[in-house]
Amino acid sequence: MTIPPPRSLGHGFGAVSVPLPFRSPAWVNCYLIEADGLTLIDCGVDWPEGFEALESGMRTLGLDPHSIDRLIVTHLHPDHVGMAPRVAQTWACDIVMHERSAERIPRYNDTAGHAARISQLARRHGVPESLRADFTDVATRAPFMPMMRQPDLLVTDGDRVALSEDRWLEVLHTPGHEPSHICLRDSLTGILFSGDHVLPRITPVIMVDDEGVDVLGDYLASLQRLVDLGVGLTYPAHGGVVEHGALRAEQIALHHDRRLSGMLGVVAMAPQTAWEVMLESYRPHLNTTEQRLALRETVSHLEHLRARSEVASFAEGDLWFYRRST
Ligand SMILES: [Zn+2]
Repeated sequence: MTIPPPRSLGHGFGAVSVPLPFRSPAWVNCYLIEADGLTLIDCGVDWPEGFEALESGMRTLGLDPHSIDRLIVTHLHPDHVGMAPRVAQTWACDIVMHERSAERIPRYNDTAGHAARISQLARRHGVPESLRADFTDVATRAPFMPMMRQPDLLVTDGDRVALSEDRWLEVLHTPGHEPSHICLRDSLTGILFSGDHVLPRITPVIMVDDEGVDVLGDYLASLQRLVDLGVGLTYPAHGGVVEHGALRAEQIALHHDRRLSGMLGVVAMAPQTAWEVMLESYRPHLNTTEQRLALRETVSHLEHLRARSEVASFAEGDLWFYRRST
């Protein structure tokens, strides 16, 4: 897939698509807003190709990276926040994130803790013994996600980030894909910067994180907010422009509804582990990384069904089973 060239989007907006060291998504869209100062939204992982693309892309658009005042990061995933410390240091700008990121950053920095949680997930949710070693092989931190520092400014839902005297970005806290996820809405045009909350064609992965927290419930509520706001033109972090954000939010909610019904069917006949439900619900031949994501997403769906009292869970030793509630 070819990475789109740097482009002006009108109203002081620009976009630079920055390559990622993954097959999919292959790039992240970094948005620039030129008003009284210069604002950057998201920055990609920390690797030379990304930094060069961001710097040269900005120059192509006639922007001087040293004039960036602030980098707003939509959420705490490496393809959005990875290069933030380098960007802030090199170009002397502030990092702005949602207030939940403050408590999440130590966890983002804790590779051993992440590995321990993946091991527990594998044990608890039935990853077969023969696949366990590969599945839990996440103890090495990728060089493109250096330690993250605390942001210079924490924002909360409803806050306004001033772009000029009479123009601002409204902060919408949209937890689900990640607990500190925010979208930003431009007061002048109503255009929404959606991060990974709403994407064209693909749906963002909704992964269980802390057991017992209904992340899919959070996500569906965050989607409904976009519907209620009647969000129109939307600039996502991956892929092309979304013409109608509210409509796309409805489509994504429908996708999850279908998946929830499917999983409810799987556990209707007999109790199943999340691993077994995953095998029934996703396409076959997933690689290990995909299996990890699919299992975490399966658990988030089953936990949502549990929060709605449609399924129940019980443990046999270390192993958890889900069954349809009677
Ligand atoms: Zn992303």
